[in-house]
Amino acid sequence: MGVDSFVNWLRDVAGSLHENAAYLTELDSAIGDADHGANMDRGFQAVVALLDETSFESADELLKKAGMTLVSKVGGASGPLYGTFFLRFGTALAGADLTPETIGKGLHAGVDGVLARGKAELGDKTMYDAWAPALTAYDDAVAGGADLGTALTAAAEAAAKGRDATTPLVARKGRASYLGERSAGHQDPGATSTTLILESAARTLA
Ligand code: ADP
Ligand code: MG
Ligand code: MG
Repeated sequence: MGVDSFVNWLRDVAGSLHENAAYLTELDSAIGDADHGANMDRGFQAVVALLDETSFESADELLKKAGMTLVSKVGGASGPLYGTFFLRFGTALAGADLTPETIGKGLHAGVDGVLARGKAELGDKTMYDAWAPALTAYDDAVAGGADLGTALTAAAEAAAKGRDATTPLVARKGRASYLGERSAGHQDPGATSTTLILESAARTLA
């Protein structure tokens, strides 16, 4: 696999977020400010524009530039968080062969970046509640000898369970935390977009 797989991934993410923009915004209207779908769609349309005008030689350059684009085009909480994820993912891949192990290190570096910026803990009802189980499932799959596609499928399935498990939680980070107990009973928008991003990875990065 090479840079083309990552180009396909980002284009597929853009398509999936565009298709799900109204859904993500509806989730954000219940516990936020009704812009998560629009934020993600705008950010990834800018990433698609970047892919249309630039050809990248390596996955690390591509992911770093995509991260910078998200930071600059998406406001709110999710732009800097996802921007940092892709920036750190790319940085971790610099000079590395693309294997299930190095991609796993990249995913961990990306999520460490999300935590460094957002300070979320497990159970705070954020995107981290999807990322954390996804990383565990990915690592377990790779340790068991799984190939990249199998490991990413396991990660996406675990993310979906983590996303579903955000529904009863009371939010402790981000705008939803302003609602206190009233945030319970609603699925977290960011955990939902993280799951879409990983489902797309499982489809395209095999
Ligand atoms: P905003 O809340 O600024 O309008 P978005 O609506 O685009 O930004 O994104 C909201 C999502 O961002 C939440 O559903 C949550 O998953 C995620 N989020 C918010 N704050 C944090 C944080 N500190 N750490 C991790 N994720 C966060
Ligand atoms: Mg919002
Ligand atoms: Mg907002």
